[in-house]
Amino acid sequence: MSTAAHAQIPTRRRPSARPGTGSSLVGAAVLAAAGLVVGPTDVPAARAPEPSTAIAFASVPSTPPPAAPGARVLRPAAATSAAALLPTQTRANVAPVVAGFGYPVRPFHREHPVRGFFGDPRTVFDGPPTRATLMHGDGQFSFHEGVDISAKDGTAVYAVRSGVVQAAAKTSDWFIDVDTGPGQGFTYWHVIPAVRPGQRVVAYETVLGHVRRGARHVHLTVTEGGRVVNPLAPGRLGPYRDTTPPRVRSVELRSAGAEPVMPEFVQGRVEIVADVADTPTTPAPGLWRDMPTTPAVLAWRVETMDGRRVRPKRTVIDVRERRPDHAAFWRVFARGTHQNMSVFGPHFSYRQPGRSLYRLTPDGFDTRTLPDAVYEVVVVASDVRGNRDEVRRRFTVHNRPVTSAGAEHER
Ligand SMILES: [Zn+2]
Repeated sequence: MSTAAHAQIPTRRRPSARPGTGSSLVGAAVLAAAGLVVGPTDVPAARAPEPSTAIAFASVPSTPPPAAPGARVLRPAAATSAAALLPTQTRANVAPVVAGFGYPVRPFHREHPVRGFFGDPRTVFDGPPTRATLMHGDGQFSFHEGVDISAKDGTAVYAVRSGVVQAAAKTSDWFIDVDTGPGQGFTYWHVIPAVRPGQRVVAYETVLGHVRRGARHVHLTVTEGGRVVNPLAPGRLGPYRDTTPPRVRSVELRSAGAEPVMPEFVQGRVEIVADVADTPTTPAPGLWRDMPTTPAVLAWRVETMDGRRVRPKRTVIDVRERRPDHAAFWRVFARGTHQNMSVFGPHFSYRQPGRSLYRLTPDGFDTRTLPDAVYEVVVVASDVRGNRDEVRRRFTVHNRPVTSAGAEHER
C-alpha cells in the first residue's frame, strides 16, 4: 500500500489518530494452525451473493416514497411486541426519531456494536496478494448490503419483525429470510437456522437460529418497497447512537495513469480521489475494534481562494437510503480500495484495516476549463446522523506552458 506514502495530507481540523493501512497478508491456514480462529469465513459477506437478488420478494412495492429522515412512515407488520414502538403515522416535523425495530440479539432495545455499515466496500480479489492485483485485479466487488451487528458465536438470533420465513438455507453461508409485508423483508446472515420456510415468526419471541461459529456477527439486510435500504437510516434500527464524524483522511490528485500529481502544478485532465473513513461510535469488540467503516454521504466542490465556487457541489455517493448498483463499484471507488481484512485468493489480511478511496471525478476533471489560478477542492463527508467532516485541498492549475527556470515566479 505505497499509495499511503503518496497521499497528500490535506488541511484538517484535528490530528490523525488512525493507524496506517498496511496490508501484510497471512494465509488463513496459517492462522488456523496458529489457533487464530479467524479465517476467510469471518468475512463471508464479501463472498455472499446478493441477498436482494438471491431472494425474490413476490410483492409489489407499496412503501411510499421516503420522506425527510425522521419523518418516515413506518409500516409495521402484524401485531408484534414491538408494535408499541412503531408509529403508524409520522407527522411532519416531529423531532423524536422512533426506532422502527430493535436488534436481533438480546437485549433487543439496547444498542449493540455495528461494525459494518451499509455501502462499505466488499472486495474479494481473485489474484495473489500483490499491488498489481490490488490496482488491476479481478474479483467480486460490491457495496455492503446491510449492517454487521457484533454478536458472539452461538448467540440466539431473533426476528425483529413478525412475518413468515421465506428461506432458511445455505448458499455461501447460512441465512434466514423473513417476509414481513408487501415488499418488506429482513434477511439474517451467518445464522444456523432453527426455523423452516413457511413458518410464522414473532418479533422478539421466535429464535430464528444461532450465530454460526466463527461469524461473530449477524448481518442484517433490510428490504423496503422491494429494495434494499440502509438499516441505520433514522426510523429503522435502534437505538443507534452515532456521534463520531467520518474523516476525510486525504485528498489526492491523480493523473490519467493513476499517478499522484503535484498539487502545485496541475495540468490537463486529472482525477481527484479522497480517502475517507468512518468509525463506529460504539466500538466493536475483539478483532473488529478499530476497523473503519464508510461515510453515508460524500460531496465536493471547488472554490477560488476568495471563496467563489467555480464547481458546484457534487455528491459522489449517498447511501443514507439506498446503495449504488454494484456495477458502479469501480466508478465510486478508486483502485487501491479494499475491505477490512481483505481477501486475495486464499490470503486473508488478518486485522488489517480496509481503505476506501472515492473517485470524486469518475469522468475526469479537465483543469483547462478553469483559468490558471490557485483553488481549493472542498470535500465533505457525513454519516447517517449528520456528523460531518470538511477538508480543503489546495491546488494550482497551471496549464500555461512552463518556460525556462525562473520565469514562472508569481507576481
Ligand atoms: Zn455483512
